[in-house]
Amino acid sequence: MQTIRSIFHLKKIITQLKQKNKTIGFIPTMGDLHEGHCSLMRNSRRENDITILSIFVNPTQFGPKEDFTKYPREEKKDKLLAKKEKVDIIFFPTEEMLYPKDYLTYIETLNISTILCGKNRNNHFKGVTTIVGKLLNLVEPNKIYLGQKDAQQAIIVKQMIKDLNFSVTTKVCPIIREKDGLALSSRNKYLSKKDRLEASILHKALKDTKKEVLAKNIKTSKKAKAKIKSLITKFSSGKIDYIECVNTKNLENITNLNGKILIALAVKFGKARLLDNITINKK
Ligand code: AMP
Repeated sequence: MQTIRSIFHLKKIITQLKQKNKTIGFIPTMGDLHEGHCSLMRNSRRENDITILSIFVNPTQFGPKEDFTKYPREEKKDKLLAKKEKVDIIFFPTEEMLYPKDYLTYIETLNISTILCGKNRNNHFKGVTTIVGKLLNLVEPNKIYLGQKDAQQAIIVKQMIKDLNFSVTTKVCPIIREKDGLALSSRNKYLSKKDRLEASILHKALKDTKKEVLAKNIKTSKKAKAKIKSLITKFSSGKIDYIECVNTKNLENITNLNGKILIALAVKFGKARLLDNITINKK
């Protein structure tokens, strides 16, 4: 595995790979790697000649009161894990390199970036699309791998790729979970013991509701949201940020539960804001 820390070095290697007609799979991450990230690496390894992983805690996607400085940075551990997963190249850009002092340009996907997670996290997705756009220009991958855990992020990145004519295909990989159903996340580290136990209710509530929707006991978004809310408040002290039923392609709100539905939620447990979602295909 090659570790690259400069844009010049990365570009040189990408040019060589392109000359050799190698296909490149790319996984952008903020590090503190876990099985969720590993599943993206495995998908990329299977489908491409070369797998490139980037690790960068991107300051532009954090709000002023968010956990940018506290976000876990685990370079040594991450390198070992990436090596174990047979990643070919690991790219560690720096803030100075990507956002020099005279930096002025941002990418913003309108409308879908100011709902759900974007409602209470001003400019979060503007930071995400900007960094992903920049990394796509640097890495020039054939395929980018994203996780369904951040469903809204994946939809926004896909829209940006389409709108800005990036020559890359996207694969969204399933959510990897702990045994009790909690979606793996670097932010699970912030959970107290009590909150960690209670947080498993998120997936249970989504799963139970999906069953009811498929059995036609629940037919409207209002009822689905009420059921999820009642389970979360009954079995945990988590503070609900949002629970929404939306269209899986454009994130538009749904009233009656038909067709392909994404139920997405964000719930705060202490300092940890946890995301989860489930898709339903109701015929
Ligand atoms: P992050 O390092 O949190 O920015 O995540 C990097 C990528 O890994 C994103 O595309 C995430 O959606 C994906 N990811 C994070 N957690 C999981 C998970 N539990 N299952 C699948 N993908 C994940």
